[in-house]
Amino acid sequence: MLKNEVKSTCSYCGVGCGIIIKKDTNDNVLVEGDKEHPVNKGMLCSKGMNLHYVVNDRSDRILYPEMRWSRSHPRERVSWNDALERAASVFKAIIKKHGPDSVGFYVSGQSLTEEYYIANKLTKGFLGTNNIDTNSRLCMSSAVVGYKKTFGEDSVPISYEDIELADCFLIAGANPAWCHPILFRRLEKHKEDNPEVKIIVVDPRKTDSANFADLHLQLIPGTDVVLYNAIGRRLFERGLIDDDFIKNHTEGFKDYKEQIFSTSVKQASKICGVPEKDIRKAADIIGLSKGFISMWAMGLNQSAVGTDKNFALLNLSLITGQVGKPGSGPFSLTGQPNAMGGREVGGMANLLAVHKDLFNPEHRREVAQFWGVDKISDKAGYTATEMFDALEKGKLKAVWIVCTNPLVSMPNTHQIERAMKNAKFIVVQDISHKSDTAAYADLLLPAAGWLEKEGTMTNSERRISYLPQEVRPPGEAKADVEIFCEFAKKMGFRGFNYNSSEEIYNEYCSMTKGTNIDVSYLNYDRLKNEGTFQWPVPDYRHSGTKRLFEDKKFYTPSQKAIFNIPKSIENTSPKTNDNYPLILTTGRVRDQWHTMTRTGKVSRLKTHYPTPVLEINPIDAHINKIKNGDITEIKSQNGVVRVRASITDNIKESVVFLPMHWGKKLQSDLNRANNLTNTIVDPQSKEPDFKYTAVSVKKY
Ligand code: SF4
Repeated sequence: MLKNEVKSTCSYCGVGCGIIIKKDTNDNVLVEGDKEHPVNKGMLCSKGMNLHYVVNDRSDRILYPEMRWSRSHPRERVSWNDALERAASVFKAIIKKHGPDSVGFYVSGQSLTEEYYIANKLTKGFLGTNNIDTNSRLCMSSAVVGYKKTFGEDSVPISYEDIELADCFLIAGANPAWCHPILFRRLEKHKEDNPEVKIIVVDPRKTDSANFADLHLQLIPGTDVVLYNAIGRRLFERGLIDDDFIKNHTEGFKDYKEQIFSTSVKQASKICGVPEKDIRKAADIIGLSKGFISMWAMGLNQSAVGTDKNFALLNLSLITGQVGKPGSGPFSLTGQPNAMGGREVGGMANLLAVHKDLFNPEHRREVAQFWGVDKISDKAGYTATEMFDALEKGKLKAVWIVCTNPLVSMPNTHQIERAMKNAKFIVVQDISHKSDTAAYADLLLPAAGWLEKEGTMTNSERRISYLPQEVRPPGEAKADVEIFCEFAKKMGFRGFNYNSSEEIYNEYCSMTKGTNIDVSYLNYDRLKNEGTFQWPVPDYRHSGTKRLFEDKKFYTPSQKAIFNIPKSIENTSPKTNDNYPLILTTGRVRDQWHTMTRTGKVSRLKTHYPTPVLEINPIDAHINKIKNGDITEIKSQNGVVRVRASITDNIKESVVFLPMHWGKKLQSDLNRANNLTNTIVDPQSKEPDFKYTAVSVKKY
């Protein structure tokens, strides 16, 4: 590294690639992959490679606070002092009249750990409500429940390093070739070097990941539990299970066995739409492997039965004893860069910091004592969808939205519009005017973006990295922690007099002491000088923890891993019918990120998938008299989308696909996939059901 270079981490996905930042003679930022970084070894995907455009182009940035006194007036520029005075006086008045549960914060998996920590401390410790949830609810919460109930805590057991040690991968409901590209490059290289390595992909679409796989199980959406149970049954019948591990290190096998034997492989094949021989083949590949890794993402999590799908997949690691050893284990692929860091500090309506349990009185007492407050409320806060439901119904009066764009990303966006119109007071804290949500702000606060503030993030493999501030934020934009702390002081709260992000980080780290995520000896100096670390890092000399559970002692009371039995083997989404005969599934495209407020301004990222299209199977296109390129009208119970058709046999018959990135500001209200999606959530994780909406399609 040259003298004028600094290291940072990509701010897009949870892979967490290392980036070297340089500046040209005009002080413009340049980026390149960090060859010394353990995650990406110098590689960057198209999004990471173009991050400098996002930093250097400030044309869309919110530059100063804007406020309006009533909805009939336009917003006007105000000072920071006036903006935060107003925010505090409105929050105080609402809380006085309606109680603390009438206000809430909706934050983001892209927030830094320090920001997440302060927002949680402010809300749960001082405002007196647990109404703080995050857009991570939309991506990881089913996996969180899966991990907690299986291993006793929300803990990803393995490392990227395990990829190069495994010989079997089951990639379920994920397309890492597009969505976690650098991780997938590692997988591709591993297979190229070791052709005996086998990859199985489970997905209703023939994605690039599926095309690379040895076996593609193109299942009917929503039938995952049946499929994984059938694989479990076949493993049992062939004797490809780890009896010793099951007997000595797990609980619940008897009930699991009963459930997997309730459906034959033949029946499962019919339900899932996957040939019987392929189910058998998948089981045999898994059962005969030395190192088995399952990887999954939104196809499992974003479902009405997302938690059950997680259980069914996790059970395959338990039945084969493939946990806590090199090259094996379950591995959820985190979408956002700091979804895991957010969970560490309790960034959800039902969590407490350092993986403590909101519903445990002793844990609430410990957290309250640490923050110097009387108590933490024992009432779960509103989760993401509940929050907007409550706004629509008038139960929640004020919401503070940070670094996320629910007007495009939430399910059933028309409901979100109604909720926003009905809210008494909306604060939006963001970097870009391009966020559709900004239009609804009564108070719009300019936030600093990537490289404009310092802090830490944790990637998918528990790796914490330090991100430096390298450029000044534009205009009057401020770091989110500064905004939160100044607001807290205006509210009259003590305990927010920090001089730096480092002080906030140190406070959080001291809270982790003695826990399973102990980083109490991992300070900014170590992160700056020694690089990234995987938690736990329980002492000064500790170099981080690659793998959890190598001693086969899990975090459950019995120290055994638990076979959790899916409550429902069938999908519970509203079924297709004569009016809505097709299943809509939504997802990401290779070069775009979330609602495109950043990637949408980089022209070279638009060439790969320039506009949203409906991917439809030739048989369904024929039935509906649709030709390639026709404008189609897609309808669900919730709304309408009109986009061109792309006829492809990459998608299973009776299923259609829409990308989720496009929203109103970026083209048209009719491009927004979430006009259609349903408001069902998984009952355990409260994660929305983005992957299964009954729709009709016709030529427009
Ligand atoms: Fe960034 Fe993810 Fe691409 Fe790595 S894989 S460069 S973290 S977007």
